[in-house]
Amino acid sequence: MDCIFCKIANGEIPATKVYEDETVVAFNDLEPQAPTHILVIPKEHISSAAEVTEENSKVIAHIFEVIAKLSKDLKMDEGFRVVNNCGDSAGQTVKHIHFHLLSGRKFTWPAG
Ligand code: AMP
Ligand code: ZN
Repeated sequence: MDCIFCKIANGEIPATKVYEDETVVAFNDLEPQAPTHILVIPKEHISSAAEVTEENSKVIAHIFEVIAKLSKDLKMDEGFRVVNNCGDSAGQTVKHIHFHLLSGRKFTWPAG
């Protein structure tokens, strides 16, 4: 399958990885939208949040454990934002589920 995040997960395409274990990889976004902008993905290909099921949701829970760990390790004491874009109208450009972990600036709500 021609999926850029599968290729990052298996090492075919380079990325600046900040965390990796058996099921999850986290790496710096190529076009950071905040001083810290990390993408956290499952190694398994799940195309979007709309495809999360009882069978594959364990890794999604684990992603949030990894996010909590990264927030402590990287001292995101002031707060952070987790974003998932699902589908075209939400702006999902890579069809492999990923969670943006953003920190280091003030965020507006909604959006921004
Ligand atoms: P989304 O628009 O939610 O699908 O987010 C996709 C994100 O992947 C964007 O923020 C891109 O900057 C980022 N991205 C695309 N290709 C790469 C890559 N090779 N390495 C790191 N980040 C990437
Ligand atoms: Zn993939």
